[in-house]
Amino acid sequence: MSNKNIYDVIIIGAGPAGLSFACSLIELNLKVMLVERSTLSSISNPTPDGRETALTHNSLKILQNLGVWGLIDQTKVSPLKEAKIFDGDSDSLLNFAANKSSIDALGYLVPNHLIRLALYQKASKSDNLTIINELSVESVDTSFSGGEVILSDGQTLESRLIVAADSRFSEIRRKMGIESTMKDFSKVMIITRVSHEKDHNQVALECFNYGHTLALLPLNGNISSVVLTVPTDEADQMLNMDSEKFCKFASEGFNGSLGEMTQIGDRFSYPLVGVYAQKFRSTRFALIGDAAVGMHPVTAHGFNLGLRGQDILSKSISKALNSGKDIGSESVLREFENKQIHLSRLMYFGTNGVVSLFTNDDAIAKKIRKLVLKFADRFPPIKTLITKHLTESKKSNLIPF
Ligand SMILES: Cc1cc2nc3c(=O)[nH]c(=O)nc-3n(C[C@H](O)[C@H](O)[C@H](O)COP(=O)(O)OP(=O)(O)OC[C@H]3O[C@@H](n4cnc5c(N)ncnc54)[C@H](O)[C@@H]3O)c2cc1C
Repeated sequence: MSNKNIYDVIIIGAGPAGLSFACSLIELNLKVMLVERSTLSSISNPTPDGRETALTHNSLKILQNLGVWGLIDQTKVSPLKEAKIFDGDSDSLLNFAANKSSIDALGYLVPNHLIRLALYQKASKSDNLTIINELSVESVDTSFSGGEVILSDGQTLESRLIVAADSRFSEIRRKMGIESTMKDFSKVMIITRVSHEKDHNQVALECFNYGHTLALLPLNGNISSVVLTVPTDEADQMLNMDSEKFCKFASEGFNGSLGEMTQIGDRFSYPLVGVYAQKFRSTRFALIGDAAVGMHPVTAHGFNLGLRGQDILSKSISKALNSGKDIGSESVLREFENKQIHLSRLMYFGTNGVVSLFTNDDAIAKKIRKLVLKFADRFPPIKTLITKHLTESKKSNLIPF
């Protein structure tokens, strides 16, 4: 094996998680290889995918520290000032407002492709990082002495540590023999941008209607992202509906509070499947991003969690380097895994519990939904706690969309 094929870290997947991790390793002066199966232009010039990613304050701080936040066009960043949650036909309402706490916004909405673009711009400037495209990792093998991957063109690469960030349907996770819990919600999320007559005042709305869920994410100007979740067997009908009818449906879903709506972007759809890996490490191997925890998007945690996970792993690696330890050793990976479990377990299973309750239209579930919302809204400590989680920079964050 020639030295040119030997690395400190091999990252599999250049989605937002893999790219953030690559950015986090820049300062550590390690020799890093990032392998991505899609084309170079898909990561160097990503196109809109409909997702408006709600970033927490903590994520903002991580992106700032990575030197990535400044690369995002700030005119495209929309502050989220308030969030209101409605339940079916009842008058129950849960409301979170930034101005009731000491911060200016609960979080920030950024088009997903702009986050990916900024991450790529930062990562591609590093001399220690090699990015290869249009090749996938076909097999992976690790032992106490090192790790090895074989690419689709037959090349073999070696490293001290292999990190998979290859999506919630991670093939590498499976190849490493790591089991996962998968939850197929049998629902599809349909997203599109609309313009509307009235001001949204930077307030997000989430309506748990019976049969479907409708959310509105306020973007700068009189523009919003409409997020509709429907059972899979109704998805085609909603995707093929003409835009006038679709906008009327959405507008009525928000009781006409924003006036007439006009679709101004494509409609995108995402099948909803949640994934939680049974463990986040193996010998000289770690899982990050959706490959570790693939969240239901309702609480807007996926990338926020992926960002925190890669931050934890890069800090464990940095600590190991400072104390002369092997970066792929069991103790380094165990520290990462313990923190990642602590960060994600309650969030993942809690989110699934909320989704199950608020998308269940049985009479008993409807009653419990109303009680939960009323209790949470009238009991200030709960709201304060959630708002604190939303905005604090050190603790786990929770945005209810
Ligand atoms: C509708 C929707 C709304 C969302 N909203 C939010 C939000 O508001 N806030 C939030 O924090 N998160 C949100 N998320 C979640 C967020 O988008 C994901 O968590 C994030 O995109 C996952 O990034 P990733 O890098 O882990 O995986 P991916 O983006 O899936 O990237 C995986 C990459 O690995 C590559 N790959 C796969 N296999 C191989 C292989 N064998 N070899 C080489 N390359 C490989 C793929 O080509 C791909 O580029 C949302 C998700 C959805 C669906």
